[in-house]
Amino acid sequence: MAIRKIRTIGDEILRKKCKPVKEITPRIIDLIKDMFETMYEANGVGLAAPQVGILKQIVVIDVEDGNQYVLINPEIIETDGEQTGPEGCLSVPGKSGTVTRPNYVKVKAFDADMQPFVLEGEELLARAICHECDHLSGELFVDKVEGEIEDVTLEEEEEEVEEY
Ligand SMILES: [Zn+2]
Repeated sequence: MAIRKIRTIGDEILRKKCKPVKEITPRIIDLIKDMFETMYEANGVGLAAPQVGILKQIVVIDVEDGNQYVLINPEIIETDGEQTGPEGCLSVPGKSGTVTRPNYVKVKAFDADMQPFVLEGEELLARAICHECDHLSGELFVDKVEGEIEDVTLEEEEEEVEEY
């Protein structure tokens, strides 16, 4: 396993659309492991493949609910409600902003064995799913910020603003 370099805003790759995964190969298994390692090392709760320079529809999420979610070719099929709160992104270091997201999300995806499954999430998990799915279509949270994009101090970053 290896820590991969996280691409940051301004890098064109973050603005491109990702391609669906057709089959799981050893390279994809390695990529998924590296994505978790890279995400944990950066204290994030989610990471999408384009953030490490790979234009494939792969997302990893760990919002500390005891699960390590791998979402391949995810598609949001239902949303409900609203939540408005601070959001950060590992690809936009040191910044945060207020983003409104659905409070409930149902997503269908494939797991690391290419088996289809459906995941439902509320609150932080719903926000993470939306944020990561946006990455797969080249969108960043800064596109959706209400009001100003703010600088976050290191303490705030560690305690209050989750990064995806
Ligand atoms: Zn992000």
